[in-house]
Amino acid sequence: MNSFQNTRRALLGASATLGAASVAGCASIGSASPSIGRVVVVGGGYGGATVARYLKRWGGNVDVTLVEREAAFVSCPISNLVIGGHKQIADVTRGYEGLSALGVKRVRDEVVAVDAAARKVRLRSGTELAYDRLVLSPGVDFNLNSVGGLKAALDTGRVLHSWKAGPQTVALRKQLVDMRSGGVFAMTIPKAPYRCPPGPYERACMVASYFKAHKPGSKVIVLDANPEIISKKGLFEKAFGEHYKGIIEYRPNAELKEVSGTTAKLDFDDIRADVLNVIPEQRAADLAVQAGVVNVNQRWAAVNWLTMESTTVPNVHVLGDATFPAPLMPKSGHMANQQAKVAAAAIIQLLKGEPVNSAPVVMNTCYSFVTATDVVHVASVHQYDAKDKTFKTVPGSGGVSAQASALEGRYALAWADNIWADMLA
Ligand SMILES: Cc1cc2nc3c(=O)[nH]c(=O)nc-3n(C[C@H](O)[C@H](O)[C@H](O)COP(=O)(O)OP(=O)(O)OC[C@H]3O[C@@H](n4cnc5c(N)ncnc54)[C@H](O)[C@@H]3O)c2cc1C
Repeated sequence: MNSFQNTRRALLGASATLGAASVAGCASIGSASPSIGRVVVVGGGYGGATVARYLKRWGGNVDVTLVEREAAFVSCPISNLVIGGHKQIADVTRGYEGLSALGVKRVRDEVVAVDAAARKVRLRSGTELAYDRLVLSPGVDFNLNSVGGLKAALDTGRVLHSWKAGPQTVALRKQLVDMRSGGVFAMTIPKAPYRCPPGPYERACMVASYFKAHKPGSKVIVLDANPEIISKKGLFEKAFGEHYKGIIEYRPNAELKEVSGTTAKLDFDDIRADVLNVIPEQRAADLAVQAGVVNVNQRWAAVNWLTMESTTVPNVHVLGDATFPAPLMPKSGHMANQQAKVAAAAIIQLLKGEPVNSAPVVMNTCYSFVTATDVVHVASVHQYDAKDKTFKTVPGSGGVSAQASALEGRYALAWADNIWADMLA
């Protein structure tokens, strides 16, 4: 097979995984007919940007306003490669111009309050925006109080989470570059659920790949609060053993209790690190809490899976990492993108007073780099079950790679380009 065929296959493979979840309403873009309703979307990440784009593409005459506090979108997927020195932050950064060109009104601000009774949101600038339907895709914030000294350590900037891509990604990369050869990088993983189950193990591989090439004698110590690797276990174990023997040390059941300087304190052990990377316990972001949609374990927002509408606050839809997931549904960018399509289609129908799709199907593919070039994936397909009112995995669908490969590395990069275009073009 020649390189053109390879590239074409990689692109087709990756774009197939992005297939639309459910297209209930299809109207032309930029219709001159009067608006069928006002939708305010909060958060321009994987869920929010996608729902804004598809409300315009499928609804055309929906009045869509996207409120995002940052100037540009910075992707968490692929950001571990920036930490490993295989990509630059510019490679995972994209602008919002495509959404503006499509007619999405973009507001750079922060939503500080939701008044669900009056159907309006208040921005930090003081402006108020009225809505018929509100979509929240604010991602996660951290529970810092369960670990002594963690908040203070993060506040100093000496300990980083780098679990929201952006300045902390660049700062962690700099800490690794500045670290002495023969030094120790320790990272801690919280108990599941957290955003991107395989993400921490990919990060360990990326840091180890950098040490292997540039920092002889250095170590990566992975302190996992879970009893074992929670995603693509066999594939990561193989990568740790094959590529990073003597570099990565993996410790299960190693729950972080306290942080002091760059020392991670466990129940019976202290790990002194040159660079300490703490991935804190997560929950739906602050705005979801303020809006009153967080109703599961004081952490996540339960939704009606046919519409992604909150089960507690009417006319407010919640997407992505902030939601309480259906069984075996990962907190991933791909899943947020898929949920956004369910929501966009349903909101258009609701605004028109028409029935929503009663049988949506969503899917997920998550690629992880185990070396600078070689990648493994996990995939799943989730179908709505009307009896139990939730998504369930389709028997026999999905699975994991047989082995890591450079071909999957090309699929992974094509996946990223495709999904960024699907959200933002
Ligand atoms: C290191 C790492 C690697 C990952 N790799 C993958 C991968 O390979 N594949 C994959 O599918 N997923 C991956 N993920 C997971 C993926 O990043 C998340 O699941 C995804 O970002 C969730 O989308 P979201 O829309 O819920 O939140 P986000 O994408 O985080 O978007 C939330 C947005 O809301 C904005 N916001 C929050 N509150 C407010 C407010 N009050 N006002 C205005 N704006 C606000 C934020 O600034 C942010 O832009 C990875 C995550 C990490 C950390």
